[in-house]
Amino acid sequence: MRADPVQRAIDEDLVRVLYAQNPIAFFTHWFAIAVLVSIYWVDMPYPHLFAACFGFYAVANFAALGLWLCRRRWPNAMTARNWIRLHAVRGVLLYSAPGLAIWFAFHSRQADLPVLHTVMLVTLAAGVFMSNGFDLLNFSTGIIFVLLPAIVLLFGSHNFDRTILAIVLAFFFCAINVYAISYRKLFQRVVQARVDQQQLAESLAEQKHVAEEASLAKTRFFAAASHDLRQPLHAIGLLAASLNDVAVTQAQHGKTAAHIVHNVEALNQLFNQVLDLARLESGVTQVIRLHFRLDELFERVGSQYRPQAAAKGLALRIAPTTMVVHDDPVLLERVLSNLLSNAVRYTEEGAIWVGLRRGGRRDGGYIEVRDSGIGIPAVEQERIFEEFYQVANPQRDARQGHGLGLPTVRRLVELLGGELRLRSAPGRGSVFRFPVRVGDPGGIVTSLSDTVVTGPSAQGRRVLCIDDDPSILEGLTRLLGRWGCIVRGARDETLALQALSEGFVPDAVLCDFQLANHRTGAQALTAVREALRRSGHEGAVMLLITGDMASGELATLAAQGIPVLHKPVTPARLRRTLEILWQQAERDGAAGNLATASCPLPASR
Ligand code: ADP
Repeated sequence: MRADPVQRAIDEDLVRVLYAQNPIAFFTHWFAIAVLVSIYWVDMPYPHLFAACFGFYAVANFAALGLWLCRRRWPNAMTARNWIRLHAVRGVLLYSAPGLAIWFAFHSRQADLPVLHTVMLVTLAAGVFMSNGFDLLNFSTGIIFVLLPAIVLLFGSHNFDRTILAIVLAFFFCAINVYAISYRKLFQRVVQARVDQQQLAESLAEQKHVAEEASLAKTRFFAAASHDLRQPLHAIGLLAASLNDVAVTQAQHGKTAAHIVHNVEALNQLFNQVLDLARLESGVTQVIRLHFRLDELFERVGSQYRPQAAAKGLALRIAPTTMVVHDDPVLLERVLSNLLSNAVRYTEEGAIWVGLRRGGRRDGGYIEVRDSGIGIPAVEQERIFEEFYQVANPQRDARQGHGLGLPTVRRLVELLGGELRLRSAPGRGSVFRFPVRVGDPGGIVTSLSDTVVTGPSAQGRRVLCIDDDPSILEGLTRLLGRWGCIVRGARDETLALQALSEGFVPDAVLCDFQLANHRTGAQALTAVREALRRSGHEGAVMLLITGDMASGELATLAAQGIPVLHKPVTPARLRRTLEILWQQAERDGAAGNLATASCPLPASR
C-alpha cells in the first residue's frame, strides 16, 4: 500500500464515493427485502429461520445507515483507510443475508424460486459493482456473499437448467470482477490526474509567490542602494562645487577636500560591500580550504577590533583554542570581521566574546560571537538577513552601516557549507554561531600571520601583463615596476605568446578577462600556459582580473580553482595575492599549475 500523497488522495476520494451511495443503497435494500419476502410469502420454508435471516438483513440495513450518519457527523474520527475497512464490514453484514437466503429457495416447494432469487441477486450484484467497484476490499467482500452461495447451490442441485444458470452466474461473477479491475484502474488514474493537477497548481502558485517576493526584494534592494549611493555622491557634488568659490580660504578648502575624501571612502566601502554580495550571488567566489590554527585567525581579527571595543569601554575576550581547522581563512575572516564589527557597534556596555565550541561535525565545532549588546527582537531575526535591512536606522544614516553585513555573512557561511544561527533577545545581547571543519595539524602549510607579514619578495620577479586597455597596462607596469618587478605588457594573446617566444619567462601572468576580438582571459591563459609547458617552463603563477560579475565562464573558472581578482583591485590586494601565490608555488615545489584548487588566495576575493 502506497503511503504517498496520491494514495492518501485515492483513499479520501474512495471514502467519499463509497459513503455517497449509502442513502440510495438503504432504500434499494428495503426494496430487495420487500421483493424477496413477497416471492417467498406463498410458501415460506423454515419460517422462524427465514424471519431471523430477514430481521438480520433489516437491522444490518439500519446499521449501514447509522455508519453513514457517523461518517457525516465525525468525518475525522478515523483515517480514510479505516473508514474504508468499516465500510467493507458493513458490506459483509448487508450482503450476507440476501446472498445466503437463497438456501431457502432450494427448500421451498416453488420450483421457480431459485431462479427468481438468482435474478434478484444479479440485480444486487450490479449495485455492488456500481457502488463498491472502486475498491477491491469492499467489492470482493460484497460480491462473494451475493453470488458465491447461489453458484454453489445451483451447481449442487444436479439439474440441467440450474447447472446452466450456475455456469452463466459463474461467468457473470468472473466478468464483473474483470470489469471491476478496469473500473478501479480508471478511478485511480482520475484521482492521480486530479492530484497531479493540484500539485502543479500549488507549485505554480508557490513559484509565483517566490518570483513576486524576489521582485519585491530587488525593488527594495535598488531603492535602498540608490539612496545610500546617492547620499555621498550628492555630498561630493556640493563639496566639489564649493571648491570653485574664490572667497573660500585655504583652510576651508582643506576641510572641504577632507570631506570629499571621506565621502569617496564611504562610497568605495559601499561599492565594495555591494560587489562582495554580487560576487557571492553569482557563484564566482572561490572556497579555498587550508589547514590552519584557529587562534591565529582569532588573533588577527581580534587585533583589528580591540581598539574600537576598548574605545567604547568594552572587553573583547577571545577564548584560547588549540584547534586546527580546515576551512577558507579569507572567507572566515570576512565572516568574523562582520560579526565582530556589529558586536562592537551594537554593544554599549559589557563584553564581546569570540570562541570555539566543540561539537557538530565530526570533532569539528562552532565559532560563536557573543555580545552583551542591545539584542535583536524575535520579529526582526529573519529580516536582518535581507539586503539593506536595518532594525533602527530609519534615516539611513550611513555611519550606522548599510544593512549588508549580515546578508553577506549568511551567504559566506552557506558557501562554506554551514548554517548561520542566531540567538538573541532585546536587552540581553546576541549570539551568532556557525560551524567550522576540523583540520589536520600535519596539513598546515602556511601560518596566517606569515602570509600577512612576510611574503616572498616581488623584487626581480618577471611579470607578464595581458590587457587590451593601454591605460591599465601602463598603470600595472608602473606599479609592478615600483615593486621591483620586470614587467612585459601585451595587448592580446598573440603579443603575449610573442613575448614568450622572445625568451621572456614570467614568474607571474596577470590577465584581464575581457580581451579584444572576443577573446577571453581564460583562453589567453590557457594558450600562455601551453606555450610555457612546451618550452619546459611551468613555474609561472597565473591570475585573472575581471570586472565581470556573473559570467558563467568565470563561475566555471572559480569552480576549477583558477584565482580570479575582481576590479577594482587595490595595489595592496594585488601585492598580497601575488605574494601568497608565489609562496604557495615555492612550497609546493611545483608552482605554476594554478588550475588546481590548492593555492591559498589572500583577502582579495
Ligand atoms: P549593518 O551595517 O546595519 O550593521 P548588518 O546586515 O550587519 O548591517 O545588520 C543588520 C541589522 O541587524 C543591523 O542594522 C542591526 O539592527 C542588527 N544587528 C546586527 N548585528 C547585531 C548585534 N550584534 N546586536 C544587535 N543588533 C544587530
